[in-house]
Amino acid sequence: MSGLKPTISNSPACDTVSLLKSNYRWEDAPDENKFSQCVHCGMCLEACPTYQETGLEAHSPRGRVYLIKSVAEGKMELNEFFANPVHTCLDCRACETACPANVQVGALIEEARGQLIKSDPPKGLSGMAHKLFLHHLFPHPRRMQLLHSLLKLYQKSGLRNLTHRMKLLRILPKHLMDMEKALPLLTSPPALRSHPERLSAIGAKRARVAVLTGCVMDVVYSDINDATIRVLRQNGCEVWIPQDQRCCGALHVHAGDRDMAKKLAKQNIEAFLSEEVDAIIINAAGCGSTLKEYDELLKSDPEYSGRAAEFAHKITDVSQFLIKLGLILPEGSLDLTVTYHDACHLAHAQNIREEPRRLLESIPGLRIVTLPDSDRCCGSAGIYNLTHPEMANALLARKLDDIPSGCDAVAMGNPGCMMQFQTGIVREGRDEQIVHTIQLLDWAYRKAIPDEQLQKGG
Ligand code: SF4
Ligand code: SF4
Repeated sequence: MSGLKPTISNSPACDTVSLLKSNYRWEDAPDENKFSQCVHCGMCLEACPTYQETGLEAHSPRGRVYLIKSVAEGKMELNEFFANPVHTCLDCRACETACPANVQVGALIEEARGQLIKSDPPKGLSGMAHKLFLHHLFPHPRRMQLLHSLLKLYQKSGLRNLTHRMKLLRILPKHLMDMEKALPLLTSPPALRSHPERLSAIGAKRARVAVLTGCVMDVVYSDINDATIRVLRQNGCEVWIPQDQRCCGALHVHAGDRDMAKKLAKQNIEAFLSEEVDAIIINAAGCGSTLKEYDELLKSDPEYSGRAAEFAHKITDVSQFLIKLGLILPEGSLDLTVTYHDACHLAHAQNIREEPRRLLESIPGLRIVTLPDSDRCCGSAGIYNLTHPEMANALLARKLDDIPSGCDAVAMGNPGCMMQFQTGIVREGRDEQIVHTIQLLDWAYRKAIPDEQLQKGG
């Protein structure tokens, strides 16, 4: 296999011994039942963005599964030749859609990262950033709310303008500088803080749902959480926003920090299963796929495994839920041309492709045009655009090139993709709006229904 440089033992005698000695030494090692399903057919190769960019077998799904198996068989160490291909994976799961043998490459990558982080915990600046964001910030809603207030102050006080005028952002890495420029104006406060815990349905009650507001979503895109809550109520849902909820742990799972992810999962299970609901609604693709896999994350925890499965079963993406419930058709017309980007963790991880499109098709006046290769990763992938900016930028450039001319907006269902697209749009001086699918639906309802009715609480 070209591009692979593992430290492989060639001696048959050594192989016999090494088969008995896996180099995975911690809990949640990559599961043999998963990697042994790979038949090396290569049907995943063309679907893999990192293989498409590099042409290297080690940076393909088949190559990565081979390396993961090699470590399990003791033929390879947990060294840099293993870590590099594992960390350059976007965890986009396009390979899973293409794979005829149903190899769960995403789960294998996440488990492998869990082993790598234990064997060589992040140090220096990256270790500090890991601790700061993944341990001291994202898991704490009040600190996230404080971050929202500080960002808002930065935007409104004139400090942002001053920083831009004095070109102070030049001290930041290029991609971070571009992201700062693309940060949307923070308009509404975090939904977890600003809404009553319980909101009544508008019209006849059809369902009772809980809403997970998320960490980054509620800081950067709290207006999308507001829109989600309004649309749910408009569709006859009584909405409950549990105050003890936490970040879903998706970023932690992707980074290999499974201990913190499990801690957050348990807190969410306690918070959301304390009352009866028909569904737990999520509007962020990356969070939704992790939440649906809490049973896998906690499978060896005797106290939580059963409840994790119950919790995971209730997780429903907002688009999936509205279509299943039977959407109350919006009457307001939107004179816009939009295209739709499939977030990887909606299309590949959750197989949700039709539902968001059906929501868009329900909006009077909206013209929908097809985005070529709509389910190819945009390069966001959690914090991948920060850790691997070159690959992320290459993928983003291809995405932007694909946006059909004449589009007013690009719709999608994931905040990470939205930030990535927005970064590219601002960098290239383009004027398409980047919107969440549910925002368009909300606008269509609000054109027809008075604001006071939609914003009325409890
Ligand atoms: S498509 Fe599936 S079975 Fe075939 S090489 Fe890729 S991961 Fe292995
Ligand atoms: S998850 Fe995405 S980047 Fe990783 S191997 Fe699969 S297709 Fe490639």
